[in-house]
Amino acid sequence: MSEAAKSWICTTCGTQYEPAVEPPQNCPICEDERQFVNWHGQEWTTIEQLQRSHNNLIKVQEAGIIGIGTTPKFAIGQRALLVQTAQGNLLWDCISLIDDPTAEAVKALGGIFAIAISHPHYYSSMVEWSERFGNVPIYLHADDRRWVVRPSRNIVFWGTDPAARYPRYASRYAPEPAGLFVPDGRRSRRLVSVDVGDARGPAEADTRIRIHADQELDAIAALRAVLAGRPLGGTELDGALADLARTLTAARYVAIVYDAEPGALPPEPARAESLTALGQQLNAVTRACVTPLRGGGNRVGAESVLAWQTGYPMTVDFSRGHPRFRPDDGAGALVASGAVDAVLVVGRALGTPFAIDAVRSVAIGPSASELPCDAAIDTGVAGIHESGTAFRMDDIPLPLRAPVPGPPVAADVMRALAQRIHTRRSRRS
Ligand SMILES: [Zn+2]
Repeated sequence: MSEAAKSWICTTCGTQYEPAVEPPQNCPICEDERQFVNWHGQEWTTIEQLQRSHNNLIKVQEAGIIGIGTTPKFAIGQRALLVQTAQGNLLWDCISLIDDPTAEAVKALGGIFAIAISHPHYYSSMVEWSERFGNVPIYLHADDRRWVVRPSRNIVFWGTDPAARYPRYASRYAPEPAGLFVPDGRRSRRLVSVDVGDARGPAEADTRIRIHADQELDAIAALRAVLAGRPLGGTELDGALADLARTLTAARYVAIVYDAEPGALPPEPARAESLTALGQQLNAVTRACVTPLRGGGNRVGAESVLAWQTGYPMTVDFSRGHPRFRPDDGAGALVASGAVDAVLVVGRALGTPFAIDAVRSVAIGPSASELPCDAAIDTGVAGIHESGTAFRMDDIPLPLRAPVPGPPVAADVMRALAQRIHTRRSRRS
């Protein structure tokens, strides 16, 4: 009889690992210089063993803050805090043990709608807790991703850079997962990497095409020409592009995934538009989707709203009173050319395509006052002080709640600003 997989817990640091029949060889969290390895050697336990040897104590610390700790002391003596708010309870930090009496007591206190963890030493049995309370989201800092030893769908990596920090894209969405029409997952799919300039696609691609950065748009145009049945212009890329066109038209479903974050070089402004046009054209002969991979900070959400409000996902110009798509004149180009005399930055101003102190600027967003702006209004952080909907970078909408009252909400500040501008303009006329 085969042994069942268990989620092993390190007795020294209290961290629970991905289910496995055998416990891990060692504990990377204990081997980190901030922790220490058990003097008796690495030892492991499980939730079931802990439930027999330990209990949780639930104690009101102050109004609305309830401490949950394990007795006798386990691991580094972690404790969790249940923060009660009118919108629901947030579990701040976590512990290794969860049992029926704890779950019932926490449910009687209003349950948990989200878990946030300050430090990897409190990851403990966070996935077990999340699942126990209806798969509630766990908010972790993206920089601590490497310390997550029990991955879970419920983890939201806030502020991740998709290229560098979203390694599970492949295993979750493309190209690895099996599906109804792709029963063998990766083996049912063909993976083509188009390496543009210094950028490299997945190493395990079935086919690679190398394109100089300055040939990119021409290559997309040539591909569209082949799809439209027109002859190619006779460049060294013709053979590869003709092959790629054959592959794309023969496929039952094409997914074009591109990096939509600005890199070391300024992004080719027309790339998004050209790839979108390619996707539209492919839909005439097969089915195709185009997926830009964006970073965190709900940029995907902002682009979704722009797209359904204006028809364009980005670089929308409203200066004529109606939306126009102007990919060649993004904010960076407009500031550089001196065409604008003031900039309003909403959200996180990090990564703006211009130096914020090079132009008269107003920032509205979390920690805006830390920027060298002429005026700044600090607003709350989404998911902490502000509710609403955020889009994960793979376009999955996530409802956010605001467990903690804080600075003003960005949307309210924007509405108030629009109202003031409207009043001033009507006074002037
Ligand atoms: Zn450990």
